[in-house]
Amino acid sequence: MITKKTLQLSLKSLRDFAKKRLPDEELIALDERDECPVEIVRHMSNPDQLGIQLLFIPEEYGGMGGSTFDVYLICEQMARIDLGVATSLFATFLGSDPITFGATPEQKKRWLGKIADEGILFAYGATEPEAGSDLGALKTTADRVEKDGKIVGYKINGTKQWISNGGIADHYTILANTPAGPTWFIVDAGTKGFAHDKPEDKHGIRLSNTAALALDNVYVDADRLVGGAEGQGLLQAQAVFGYTRLMVATFGLGGGWSALDRAIPYSAKRIQAGGPLSEKQGYTHKLIVPNVARLEAARAYIEQTADRIDAGEGSLNTEGAIAKYMATEAGNLAADASIQALGGYGYTHEYMVEKIKRDVRITTIYEGTSEIMEMTISRDRWQLHLKTRGQHYHEEALKCEELHAKHPNVGAGTAALALHALAEVMEKARATRLTRHQHILLRLGELIAYAESAGSLARRAALMAENKLNEKANKRFDAAALAAISRIFAREAALKIAQDGMRWVIGAAGATPAEISGLEASLGLPTIHAAQAGLVSDMDFLADALYGRAAKRAEMAA
Ligand SMILES: Cc1cc2nc3c(=O)[nH]c(=O)nc-3n(C[C@H](O)[C@H](O)[C@H](O)COP(=O)(O)OP(=O)(O)OC[C@H]3O[C@@H](n4cnc5c(N)ncnc54)[C@H](O)[C@@H]3O)c2cc1C
Repeated sequence: MITKKTLQLSLKSLRDFAKKRLPDEELIALDERDECPVEIVRHMSNPDQLGIQLLFIPEEYGGMGGSTFDVYLICEQMARIDLGVATSLFATFLGSDPITFGATPEQKKRWLGKIADEGILFAYGATEPEAGSDLGALKTTADRVEKDGKIVGYKINGTKQWISNGGIADHYTILANTPAGPTWFIVDAGTKGFAHDKPEDKHGIRLSNTAALALDNVYVDADRLVGGAEGQGLLQAQAVFGYTRLMVATFGLGGGWSALDRAIPYSAKRIQAGGPLSEKQGYTHKLIVPNVARLEAARAYIEQTADRIDAGEGSLNTEGAIAKYMATEAGNLAADASIQALGGYGYTHEYMVEKIKRDVRITTIYEGTSEIMEMTISRDRWQLHLKTRGQHYHEEALKCEELHAKHPNVGAGTAALALHALAEVMEKARATRLTRHQHILLRLGELIAYAESAGSLARRAALMAENKLNEKANKRFDAAALAAISRIFAREAALKIAQDGMRWVIGAAGATPAEISGLEASLGLPTIHAAQAGLVSDMDFLADALYGRAAKRAEMAA
């Protein structure tokens, strides 16, 4: 188990290493040259140097056995440094996942041990030119090679696309169709018939090597079949989606914060119209504050999900999807706003926010696109809605109301309004059979993610107030600031759910003026509007907290 102290040491070594080896000028130069710093990636993987991989590997195989919570914090830190390098390190983690969760004990010992001891690099080869979101369409084949009636190996043929570490990995996990269905195989770099293409010329994460792979009659021994039984590949991939998507969520979170952490100090120094931009409400309340609220809502959901996975609640695939969706969408918005916050400077290569914006863009695409996340979330929660006869989100709202009774300042009351409104929108969608429209199904996925995140952030703010947050949790904001963040986000979520909910219900089913009034009432729209009171002063309060003005204001008031 990793203690808080060990984790903090690892985070510090990572920061120190980055400061020395990957300062902004170096990152910008590598980005411009479109170069993956392989030597740095290997240094970071090397157990005798930084040994980041050790955190991911269970103790029994020579690793440090980091918890989901530990890995979240490390991944966020890596993303803050550079999302390309983070992707490269994550690729080994992703590439070894089918082994961690599906391999035989001997295979685990051999391969996970090798990653821990030698710091080798893996790549994860699932996607193909015609099989992206729909992995079931994969065409790569693995044909049995038999000797004396016994399977001794496989011949793999096919093409893989967009593979991170594709041109630099030592070993690859490759998904291929056997006679019994999709199956993972471990293939060594340099095997006869196995080649990679030149690195892709990408929009962002240019420090990460991404390449297509070609497999032409590549022979592997039977012991390279992960788990020893054919046809388990998609199940093995799905078994870890909750976890792996949670880690990509941390990339969105880290990328978004990395941009804001440049925009915030910039705006404190940049003088326009007689004063710093940070003193201008029209600037902070548009470009900074709402992005902080969305990112911290995503963090609350990430932390809650990590805690639950660590508590043994299972793989939590839907929760991983919600975390990824909220954090990566928020990360993109925050990075885009940061370019605006730096004005013309933000638009130039010289300032990091331009690079971060390009880098963070990938997080809504890889490891499942945002649209696939919306579908995953919606389908799962739709079943819950049906199973509970429409009561699931009303019950979640009641929990928030109880929390509100105990902690009236953490936004739980408004989160409850959001959850009640969601339950009503879903019920209306059921009654008028709206999910036959795929668009409505996916929009519900978005509203579900907002509502659940509002509940999660209110709980986090309450835990913070009670001093009961996970001891390793990020404590950048004190209880009062976190409560303000929660109130700001809950208002946004409630209004979004009620307004978008009405839009999609009316947009798909139509409504008379009387029905529209009824819908407004059942969704609690007037109450949600009333709950917006106090929003601007909460934003003022958060801006003061972000710019370290809270103490000064209190002093002046005294
Ligand atoms: C830089 C980079 C690194 C990557 N690294 C890896 C890696 O290491 N290993 C690996 O295996 N893969 C990797 N990928 C692949 C990545 O996971 C896929 O690109 C992603 O899953 C999307 O697949 P696709 O590109 O084929 O898009 P498509 O699936 O064709 O999707 C295109 C668009 O259509 C939408 N869409 C798709 N299906 C539906 C639907 N049913 N309903 C509505 N909308 C839909 C999508 O949301 C998206 O907006 C990487 C990709 C990139 C760009």
